[in-house]
Amino acid sequence: MQNVGFIGLGNMGSPMAQNLLKAGYALTVYDLMPDAVQALVAQGATRAASIAEAAAGADIVITMLPATEHSRKAYLAPDGVIASARKNALLLDCSTINADAAKEIAQAAAERGFAMLDAPVSGGTAGAAGATLTFIVGGDDAALERARPLLEKMGKNIFHAGDSGAGQMAKICNNMLLAVQMIGTAEALALGVANGLDATVLSGIIAKSSGRNWATEVYNPWPGVMENVPASRNYTGGFGTDLMLKDLGLAAEAAAATGADTPLGSLARDMYRRHSAGGNGRLDFSSIVKLLTAIS
Ligand code: NAD
Repeated sequence: MQNVGFIGLGNMGSPMAQNLLKAGYALTVYDLMPDAVQALVAQGATRAASIAEAAAGADIVITMLPATEHSRKAYLAPDGVIASARKNALLLDCSTINADAAKEIAQAAAERGFAMLDAPVSGGTAGAAGATLTFIVGGDDAALERARPLLEKMGKNIFHAGDSGAGQMAKICNNMLLAVQMIGTAEALALGVANGLDATVLSGIIAKSSGRNWATEVYNPWPGVMENVPASRNYTGGFGTDLMLKDLGLAAEAAAATGADTPLGSLARDMYRRHSAGGNGRLDFSSIVKLLTAIS
């Protein structure tokens, strides 16, 4: 079985790494947070003391880091993945980052003889836990075919969006739409409740009507409507507001670079910026409902 170096064990990386362990991969793991590493070690992973150590013995290196600057540093630093990985290792960045940065990192990897894919994911923490993620891949066919057996242990759908960076671009478009839909859903529920409707009844109606979307089907933002979603555990343990704000920034950069018109994306970014500035940056992004109405 192949050795996997897994770097970044947060809300997404931890359950993804657990699924690889369950599938029988030998994992060497690294994160800045010792508790996150310890939890994986308790399940059979090997602890690495640095990014370089996690990468050094691996056939496949996976990174699941917060943002562009983290990925750039993890791959390009003198003691980073590209400098430390062994010959012929396959490199997979599953973080959501700037598409041009993804191309630049893949180019640097190619110059050292490594195959690399950008492979950001969709499906949330439940998708990561249940191994039902969607992988949105940028890079060449041969690298994707090498990665496919491993990706299938963590996800259900694998899309090849195009060359390096295309996975990130598709993911950024998806998340801009997700933000708009989440705000729209929160707004509709807040309007209904303000006018005497029950949030659960209204959510059930929308989920089977023309306003339905991912938020109403599996990720309702109103507390108590659905079990096992961040809204029902004080907006913890999901997709952070600051991560969504980052993705809306990536969408804005991509729009500015090409002159694409994204007025709803801009408005969503402004709302998430205000929500974050109100001290909610670490709460799940569905907590945007708090910007619209008083919810405890
Ligand atoms: P997170 O903040 O929960 O986890 C990130 C982890 O990276 C943390 O444990 C942190 O300690 C670690 N880290 C940061 N810098 C590091 C470094 N230099 N070396 C080692 N570890 C380092 O974030 P997350 O929710 O797991 O998201 C990770 C990525 O996946 C982000 O790009 C996010 O946009 C994307 N994403 C998240 C979700 C979701 O629902 N949470 C869904 C799809 C995509």
